[in-house]
Amino acid sequence: MELLHSKYPFISSAKESVANSGFNLITTIESNKTTVNRALERILCAIEEGSIGSVHRDATVELLSYPLARILVSIVNEPGLTHRYAWAESQSAIVHFQEDTENKTELKSITSAKLSLSSLLDELNIKNDIICAGDIFSISVETYLSLISYLPGATWKLAFQALSHGKINVDQSELYKLLGVAIFQKIKSDLPLKIPNEAEKLLQNQLKSIHSYIDEIDLEPELGPVSLDSFPPCMMNLLKRVESNEKLQTQSLFSLISFLISTQTDEENILDYFTTNSFHPSLIQSTMGYLKDKDGSTLYPPPSCATMKTYGDCINMDDICQSISHPLQYSSKKQS
Ligand code: SF4
Repeated sequence: MELLHSKYPFISSAKESVANSGFNLITTIESNKTTVNRALERILCAIEEGSIGSVHRDATVELLSYPLARILVSIVNEPGLTHRYAWAESQSAIVHFQEDTENKTELKSITSAKLSLSSLLDELNIKNDIICAGDIFSISVETYLSLISYLPGATWKLAFQALSHGKINVDQSELYKLLGVAIFQKIKSDLPLKIPNEAEKLLQNQLKSIHSYIDEIDLEPELGPVSLDSFPPCMMNLLKRVESNEKLQTQSLFSLISFLISTQTDEENILDYFTTNSFHPSLIQSTMGYLKDKDGSTLYPPPSCATMKTYGDCINMDDICQSISHPLQYSSKKQS
């Protein structure tokens, strides 16, 4: 049962499982460092990569780290962090759901760790709004509209959909995206939680780590426009590669576009720049759509210098680079 709950920690039976396990918040924080560390990892990965990191091999640790991560996010109580964290959790859950749905050949022993579509819809309170007919799913227009506002791309707009008797048909891959948003809304809906002072005191080290990430990346207010001569060497190198008509790997393209969005480069200019350099407009539009929140702010900041190194994109480091840990810090250091 715990495997199912560790994959879908937001469902009601997972909450019951945590309650029935005798979970005690203070004791867990004081004596279960593995769970506390996994909770912190969920949040730091959400900030940096938009994921919750690797699933812990121990399903109990994985499950218990979820309420602890929500507690940490609640204490920090930053809207940008809450959004990113809930989004990362939802994307992890929908990947598990897709695997559960599409993997029909697994062992019987782990069949019980699967969540059915009907149970998921029930958990999300949309069971009566979605009807399955083979590979097509018919969704009530109200539910559809409440979910697409978080999805990038014009194709989701009502104007591009065939509306029939108040319903819109979507295929399975579109359904996964819509359900991902519904999970995000559910996870985010009751955050921040009210947290006892004692827990906050005991979690000071973890809170410091989260704040150091947030302060570095500056989640909410965007940076002002950055002139080209204040771009960090890694981004200059990626620009050079774009201009040489080189095909960038996905993570490099995401890093560059996210950097440009974070530094308030005009969207049309970004699109023009890439298309002039032989990139397909739909690739750039969908990447920008993925990286941006519906209000236009950056949903995923560019990666830290450490992550850029692992991508092989930390190139031509200079003196300024020695004193920073994130490419977004480069221009202000240069100007200081
Ligand atoms: S140290 Fe950071 S800012 Fe400098 S080149 Fe590497 S990734 Fe870019």
